[in-house]
Amino acid sequence: MNLVEIPENPTFPALTQNPRILVVEDEEIIRDMTTIALQKEGYDVVSVSNGDEALKLLQPIEKRPPESIFDLIILDLMLPEVAGLDICRLLRYQGNFVPILITSAKVTEPDRVLGLDAGADDYLTKPFSTKELLARTRALLRRQTFHSFTNSLVYRFKEITLLSKEHQVFLRGQPVSLSPKEFRVLELFMASPRRVWSREQLIEQIWGVDFLGDTKTVDVHIRWLREKLEKDPSQPEYITTVRGFGYRIG
Ligand code: CA
Repeated sequence: MNLVEIPENPTFPALTQNPRILVVEDEEIIRDMTTIALQKEGYDVVSVSNGDEALKLLQPIEKRPPESIFDLIILDLMLPEVAGLDICRLLRYQGNFVPILITSAKVTEPDRVLGLDAGADDYLTKPFSTKELLARTRALLRRQTFHSFTNSLVYRFKEITLLSKEHQVFLRGQPVSLSPKEFRVLELFMASPRRVWSREQLIEQIWGVDFLGDTKTVDVHIRWLREKLEKDPSQPEYITTVRGFGYRIG
């Protein structure tokens, strides 16, 4: 029987459902303008008005709640409390390579060089148009998605967050302990959110073609995953059964 394949994203797996962006800007008018423009494009935006608040949200990954993982930071340089350049340097020092777009009224070449050398990915001079801001945002997020194949990858589905490289799963902000096989099944589902996986395909991907057991092994692992993730494992919301085909997320 041929399975009806639901096409995956033809270019890259979805990095997240909605990219999350942190806006750090002390000027209220610019902060609001930026936030509204980004929200209109469907981004999930958190905005703060000083460097201290930004750093609280950007702690090292093991101390950070998953809801504060960002896909991009739009960072003003002249900020109260902690300056933008110092935030940039600190994040890179901590091994956080989230894309950073600096926005600044400092226009000279040495200022731009300083910003890029501190670890920023791009530089936008104030005043800027929202059109250009959005174009640079898209470009940085595209690069991040591509880059993620060789770096950390964060998947989100509803209340589940999976950190690929760190082998961590969070449900509503709380860590969930999964076996390596359970983790790989969930990772596969989250990396291709629209795809239905047959039991045979899951065996091949997770257990390998040499696996000698039968496809009931898949059902057992799905049951364990549901017990760990679902509010009601008999009425699953996350790992659903597609009758006659297999399983998928959502
Ligand atoms: Ca400022």
